Amino acid sequence: MDFRNFNLATVLCILFVSFLLDPVHAATNSNVEATHSKLSRHGRSLRMNKSWTKSSYGVVFVYANSFNQHEQHKIKVAAGEIRKHSCIPIVLLSESQWNTQSRRYPHYVFIEKNRAVGCGQALVGMRGGFQLLTLSPDPRCLTVVTIMHEMMHTLGIEHEQSRPDRNQYIHIHNPNIQTGYQNVFNIAYGTTAYGPYDFDSVMHYGRYAFSSSPNHLPTLSSKVPGYFVPAYENSNLSDWDKRKINIITGCQADS
Ligand SMILES: [Zn+2]
Repeated sequence: MDFRNFNLATVLCILFVSFLLDPVHAATNSNVEATHSKLSRHGRSLRMNKSWTKSSYGVVFVYANSFNQHEQHKIKVAAGEIRKHSCIPIVLLSESQWNTQSRRYPHYVFIEKNRAVGCGQALVGMRGGFQLLTLSPDPRCLTVVTIMHEMMHTLGIEHEQSRPDRNQYIHIHNPNIQTGYQNVFNIAYGTTAYGPYDFDSVMHYGRYAFSSSPNHLPTLSSKVPGYFVPAYENSNLSDWDKRKINIITGCQADS
């Protein structure tokens, strides 16, 4: 499998909600929770307002000690990009730093390096207490854009191709999707579609995402003349990605 095919097949994460955790991920979650429990004085069942904007300290990301310096740098760059467009603080701590400051932060996101479906997994929005953001250790996966993508899930932003009005803009080619991954392309009903449909979003899947034959059989295509689903994931925040971060962190009204 060459590099580009690998990217197509793996760079796009699945967003996980708690009731969709599969057995593998549930086990991973438990393991991390077990190893991290000595750090958590509050437990993961703590639930409050489920909105980061109501947290007095913003969003706290804690990255595991298992990330090497190069990987830590990418996490810092990604957090910095998100921070530029956020109206609430984006706090980034190492696991060691968190050990000495945990009492200040009852709600936090632990970034672990572990096997993921695709390149990463993250819960959408604030869950309360401890929640996981998983990054695959493969260097072809562990990129700034992947980290930004997962962090945007944490803020509460869904995949662009999951927005309720997406059928006006894109085709989903179900026969081309790998068996077992069709539900990854489900519409997230009840969620907000911010702004115009954004083919340039880092939250948009590439054309061959989860294809049974990458580079040959697209799983998504545009219905809109002059607009195309990118072959690969977008690598920079689009204008509307920045605005979404802006809106969801309370900078401005959704308009
Ligand atoms: Zn995702």
